[in-house]
Amino acid sequence: MDCFAAAPGPAPLPLDEALARVAQTYGAVTEPESVPLRAALGRVLAESVTAPVNVPPVAVSAMDGWGYRAPESTDEEAVGEGLVRLTVVGRVPAGSVFSGTVGVGEAVRIFTGAPVPTGVDTIAMQEDCRAEDGAVLVPAGLKRGSNIREAGEDMRAGAVVLTPGRRLRAQEIGLAAAVGRASLSVHKRLRVVLFSTGDELREPGGAKPDGAIYDANRYTLAAQLDALGAEVRDLGILPDNPDVTRAALAEAAGTADLLITSGGASVGEEDHIKAVVNSLGSIDLWKLAVKPGKPLALGRIGDTPFLGLPGNPVSAMVTFMLVGRPLVLRLMGAESVPTPRCLVVSGFEFRKKPGRREFLRARLATGPDGRPVAHKFPSDSSGVLTSMVEADGLVDMPAEATTIREGEMVEFLPFTGLFA
Ligand code: AMP
Ligand code: MG
Repeated sequence: MDCFAAAPGPAPLPLDEALARVAQTYGAVTEPESVPLRAALGRVLAESVTAPVNVPPVAVSAMDGWGYRAPESTDEEAVGEGLVRLTVVGRVPAGSVFSGTVGVGEAVRIFTGAPVPTGVDTIAMQEDCRAEDGAVLVPAGLKRGSNIREAGEDMRAGAVVLTPGRRLRAQEIGLAAAVGRASLSVHKRLRVVLFSTGDELREPGGAKPDGAIYDANRYTLAAQLDALGAEVRDLGILPDNPDVTRAALAEAAGTADLLITSGGASVGEEDHIKAVVNSLGSIDLWKLAVKPGKPLALGRIGDTPFLGLPGNPVSAMVTFMLVGRPLVLRLMGAESVPTPRCLVVSGFEFRKKPGRREFLRARLATGPDGRPVAHKFPSDSSGVLTSMVEADGLVDMPAEATTIREGEMVEFLPFTGLFA
């Protein structure tokens, strides 16, 4: 498909279609490798994890307290204030096992995590009990089974507890540890090569002649990729020169799982990305029907996926969040790559023409009723990077919508979710 073959060209591509295309076209590209648990954060699981044991392995106490057999009837001697007197026959700290059997009218001192002795079916928390010489007073009428965690309550032996394609957060890593795993099979890190394009760009820290600007995009994009767990290779700035660009992309493609450029993807005389990538492989270049956003290029150089992002710093960042992040996660082997979103109250009025979906930079504050309220940054320019610094996320305004009113509920994409 050649979107810019003839002016004015086909209709801009809705974001959902771009995402559907990413989902159809790209899947896991990295091989599995085994990593110790401490190195697994943010990686994508490449195996099924099965619990070889029950967790907990046996019934254990959920409290520090007293374990006993709940009376079948109320024939135990009730001692004032609804307390029952029991004879203490042992002490069971966590990590030990009580070898005897606890009979009717008897109790053991027991601690959180300690295996429940044979005969005990109920545990009273220590705050509700009173120890006396060789005996304990426990509350009468406590429900049988109170404060006991059954064997396998968390995980049953043989159950699949984690499935391939899941990104590993702290809790998944802890779960693997809880079933005894020291290492996990995960997808290798995605090797991403990153270029900026533009004769006007200079490296931060260096000299900057008139008409030049410092390159911001490689730094925002590299940081976004780092946060996703990719292995970034920053190959610097490409000039607006098709031969140099072709040589650099062709060479990099052999060593990368994904190539990303920003800038040079429009259809101006100085925009060479489309022709260069076409000459090395294939490319679809769209006007993404998103503001800030267009243009967007997806393709391949040889076998290596290629993502061409817009040059404007806000557009590059936002397009990466909306399309680049799902693409990267998919190539990393992630099963599901939803964009995190929630509803917040609009603290602003806004109008636009129908037809293009807009992502408005907004900061969250707590409203008078305690609900989060989004306050829009004044400028919508795709060149104003300070707007991203001020914002906590993006208000998603549907293509067909024309108005947002103050007090209305709006969909909000928090940056905390989009950076991870
Ligand atoms: P382009 O898509 O190449 O036409 O670039 C669009 C706008 O974004 C121009 O104003 C560029 O100077 C600017 N731009 C492109 N790349 C970068 C970059 N890496 N850092 C900062 N601004 C950029
Ligand atoms: Mg340019």
